[in-house]
Amino acid sequence: MNALVTELVPVQGALASVAFRRSARASKISLRIDAAQGGVVITLPMRASRRAGLSLLQTHEAWVAEKLAALPGAVPFIPGAAVPVGDVPHIITPVTIGRGGAWIEDGRIYVTGGREFLARRVTDCLKRLARQRLTALTAEKARLAGLAPKCVRVKDTRTRWGSCAPDGTLAFCWRLIMAPDFVQDYVVGHEVAHLRHMNHGRHFWALTEMLTPHRSAAGAWLGSHGQALLRIG
Ligand SMILES: [Zn+2]
Repeated sequence: MNALVTELVPVQGALASVAFRRSARASKISLRIDAAQGGVVITLPMRASRRAGLSLLQTHEAWVAEKLAALPGAVPFIPGAAVPVGDVPHIITPVTIGRGGAWIEDGRIYVTGGREFLARRVTDCLKRLARQRLTALTAEKARLAGLAPKCVRVKDTRTRWGSCAPDGTLAFCWRLIMAPDFVQDYVVGHEVAHLRHMNHGRHFWALTEMLTPHRSAAGAWLGSHGQALLRIG
């Protein structure tokens, strides 16, 4: 899949960011909303033209406009912004003195250094925290199940909150650190259960339920707030 170009295209009177991608696997032109970027992605098979992509967009203009309007507002990492950490709002607070980088204390995310580095430092700080917490939680649940992950990675995945590779590597989206504890607990329990069962069968769910009691609550929370997490930072 190759990114071709991103353009601003009028959609019902407002400009929408439209990213064109070329895919060897696609057999027809497709259109989707990218919640994280707040735009549209048009996937073109190798021989399809950009013009054909735009024509598909025009056909679905009303739908696209409605979906874009319904996206949660973006929360950029700027001074004063409230960023949820474990679902508790933490205010981004620049400071001129103190340790380098960013750290979390008393409901605030303190950041030193130039304004241009602020968003990067806040992101790094949250990723670090996510790695610590999700790794510890994974170790705890793996021990309960008598399992051992190969390693735990924290990434900026856009389509999955967690994954388990056949070699036993677990990966989580760092943005989970902004979700409530019970959501983190469930996602980790789910992926740890995949270390034994690489499917979603009966035995998999029985083990998941032994590792975490939060399946339905976490599923519901991610269903209604998951998109918003992708719009933060
Ligand atoms: Zn799964």
